[in-house]
Amino acid sequence: MPERPERPESLAGQGRVALVTGAASGIGAAMVRELSGRGWTTAGLDLSPAPDADHSVGVDVSDPAQVGAAVRRIERELGPVGAALCAAGHYAIVPVSDIAWPEWRRMLRVHLGGLVNVCRAVTPGMVERGEGAVVAVASELAIGGGDAEAHYAAAKGAVIGFVRSLAVELGPSGVRVNAVAPGPTDTPLLPPESPWRKASYLQTLPAGRLTSAEEVALAAAYLVEDGTFCAGEVLSPNAGAVI
Ligand code: NAD
Repeated sequence: MPERPERPESLAGQGRVALVTGAASGIGAAMVRELSGRGWTTAGLDLSPAPDADHSVGVDVSDPAQVGAAVRRIERELGPVGAALCAAGHYAIVPVSDIAWPEWRRMLRVHLGGLVNVCRAVTPGMVERGEGAVVAVASELAIGGGDAEAHYAAAKGAVIGFVRSLAVELGPSGVRVNAVAPGPTDTPLLPPESPWRKASYLQTLPAGRLTSAEEVALAAAYLVEDGTFCAGEVLSPNAGAVI
């Protein structure tokens, strides 16, 4: 009988600092609550105040200077960031021919740029310490595509490409970079006119309901803490739905 290998040490809270963007609402707020419950000290970055986080910092994630200043302040006041979860984002239903270039650029600046800004601010310290976890929030739409959602799906596709590449780049240092790719999730992001708010569409989901923000946060917490050999992974907590 081969010997059972030792369980790798998980990256557990134990007072470590987790930075969460988009922490004021929906999935980001659920991530803050999930990690707080696991012993992490949480710093929430958002355009709006993040009441669930231990520390809330007003930041536009698309601005590298604001993100850099926020991370420096968090590390000075709370200690080194052990986990960064990037959930800030916005969404719109617009046919390709109607999407103006400023909206294309904004979509990419917030989703891809926000992730890049956070990674550039937190990962050098993680690499130096030889541990750390980044989890980006992508979307099932990046894989399946969606009607009148091309700019959003393209930005999320870019997020996945970035995550897979950074995972390879930082792999040797022990820093793990992963993504969650939720399907339709019950948060204020989905506008009332979203098809997924309609009963007919809900029936196409195997579970017959939207994912909850808490279910996405659980998947992200797994990638942070116990997915000790997961890197470049895209985990879809969608109960089997392919959209
Ligand atoms: P939400 O609207 O509830 O929360 C998004 C948060 O991001 C808000 O608090 C908002 O203020 C913040 N934000 C937006 N732009 C920002 C910026 N430039 N700088 C800082 N903060 C900013 O939406 P959610 O559903 O919780 O979305 C979280 C993430 O999950 C997003 O990246 C979204 O694209 C993704 N996602 C959502 C769904 C869904 O169906 N709800 C599905 C897949 C992926």
